[in-house]
Amino acid sequence: MEPLVEVRGLTIEFPMRAGLLRAVNEADFVIPKGQITALVGESGSGKSTMASAIMRAISVPGRVAGGSITFDGRDVMSLGKKELQAYKWEQVSMVFQAAQNALNPVARIKDQIIETFRAHSKSYTEKQMVDKARNLLDYVRLDPDRVLNSFPHELSGGMKQRVMIAFSLLLDPQLVILDEPTTALDVITQAYIFDILKKIHKDMNITMLLLTHDIGVVAKAADRVGVMYAGNVVEAGDVYDMFKRPKHPYTAKLMKAVPSLYEDVSERKGIPGSPPDLLNMPPGCPFHPRCEYAHAKCKEQNPIKVYTPAGHEVACHLYPNPESVAEVRTS
Ligand code: SF4
Ligand code: MG
Repeated sequence: MEPLVEVRGLTIEFPMRAGLLRAVNEADFVIPKGQITALVGESGSGKSTMASAIMRAISVPGRVAGGSITFDGRDVMSLGKKELQAYKWEQVSMVFQAAQNALNPVARIKDQIIETFRAHSKSYTEKQMVDKARNLLDYVRLDPDRVLNSFPHELSGGMKQRVMIAFSLLLDPQLVILDEPTTALDVITQAYIFDILKKIHKDMNITMLLLTHDIGVVAKAADRVGVMYAGNVVEAGDVYDMFKRPKHPYTAKLMKAVPSLYEDVSERKGIPGSPPDLLNMPPGCPFHPRCEYAHAKCKEQNPIKVYTPAGHEVACHLYPNPESVAEVRTS
């Protein structure tokens, strides 16, 4: 797999009155070109912060305290002002969480599209902009004439979400990041949107990063998945491999907590306890207070990631070396 984005040792901190909050802790993460990668984790696990860093959009007072991000081999962190303007939207775009609410309530969709274009590209005429928008709206299965002339309040939540997806494609980015793209929507609308996203991915060959707290969504849409817990990427790998045999105890618990993946209702279990306070992290492995396999070492050292030859990664003391991961897999 050829990486489009490579995140290495990324640490992002937010100085707070109560102390330094480390939202992302020495995270490694790869987004392969041409695939749909999901980043899954509970709210506050660091997914959105990591995605914002890839977008070079960490909000003040947050800062990248260490590590690197490359996009197609280019160092994202050192992009100058002009390069950055071209990078955002033309290389990578993001549909933010609850993006429907980001639409300007007092402007028609058409005018908002033209404004977005103008802010990022000088090379389109107004007719070209509207034609392009029309095509994309058609692609997300909306009636272009109706939508272009509508105000946001005249559209349903699912329609607005599709408008935002069309917006994210206006400047032909290589990567689209979608933060909880279907969270506020009903199940049928969710399925419909995933269907559209998959079609866009396939027809336009767009790499996607999907941020979600819902591991069921991952199963439906992604090729590859990373699992975040309290700012750490604890496991990453091929989606099929991960569902078949999760390696990190947290991933295993996440999967057991999903009703749709378990036929036997009695097997469904929530994860006891709650994620740690990021301002007051436990020593050692951040998952140890909730982990049934925790042993003495877990309380002292945060595990280093182990890579298997199959491209699976896991950070857990149960796997001191790649061979032991393979062993667990075949047992
Ligand atoms: Fe559990 Fe220890 Fe692995 Fe952490 S390192 S997940 S506490 S076994
Ligand atoms: Mg979030």
